[in-house]
Amino acid sequence: MQLKDVLILNGFKFNKRYGQNFLTDKNLLSSIVEKAGVGKDDTVLEIGSGGGTLTSAIAERAKRVVGFEIDKNLEPVLKTTLADFPNAEIIFKDIMKADMTEIEEILGGEYRVVANLPYYITTPILMKFVEEGSKVRSICVTVQDEVAQRLCAQPGSAEYGAITAGIDVVGNAKKIMKIDRKMFYPVPNVDSAVVNIEIDRKKYEGVDLKAYRDLVRAAFSSRRKTLVNNIINSYKIPRQDAERAVEAIGKDIMVRGETLSTKDFVRLSEILKK
Ligand code: SAM
Repeated sequence: MQLKDVLILNGFKFNKRYGQNFLTDKNLLSSIVEKAGVGKDDTVLEIGSGGGTLTSAIAERAKRVVGFEIDKNLEPVLKTTLADFPNAEIIFKDIMKADMTEIEEILGGEYRVVANLPYYITTPILMKFVEEGSKVRSICVTVQDEVAQRLCAQPGSAEYGAITAGIDVVGNAKKIMKIDRKMFYPVPNVDSAVVNIEIDRKKYEGVDLKAYRDLVRAAFSSRRKTLVNNIINSYKIPRQDAERAVEAIGKDIMVRGETLSTKDFVRLSEILKK
């Protein structure tokens, strides 16, 4: 049975608030899971299982898939669509209300995240797993194309922001495909893209991540201001000290935060700590 029929049969009503736009094309779903690097020994966390189409594509390749779904109205739908997948289980809970220890205990070891994310939780979800996930190997997310561009942006570009630098310090983000809006049911008013983030906690081994994130937040706190002015405001230090720190990484005192690379932020955060 097609997903649309299962939804109708169960009298399911879409809830816009939860960003419910489902993917149904089997080839597309299978290609996402393949590009996410999911293999037969993997445990996968899926965020937002919807009608279970991505869940079943994951279950076909992985050892186990655990889905978190906020909308309990999807329970009868998921019972039907996942009936043939004993390695798939759904937890009806708001992922934002589950703490990382609880999530990682359920998963039981290393895992990959695969999700077609609702727009309203994209940034908090990514930051949650990038910052707090201790056993996450990769995060493959379908997001609005505009967000995908931000996740993979280069320093100095308009799309480059705190989230780009926040991810790049512990991983490598790559846009792996574009998805036309027509592939979703119901059709949203923007196109999407899939981004895969391979987590690499050794990329900047030894860096104080809290100090790094404090600096990134400060650097992007006001895009109209120079990096020096943003540092003065956030760190409450004399102008001379802020200028000296920026010059110590080989940058002009008039530079703006959004031109700094991850490496620059790492070096500057170490200097500011002192
Ligand atoms: N994975 C399905 C697919 O690809 O067709 C559904 C994707 S749909 C874009 C997002 C799903 O996330 C919806 O089913 C929605 O109910 C669910 N969702 C929204 N907010 C959530 C939250 N805070 N925690 C868990 N699931 C959530």
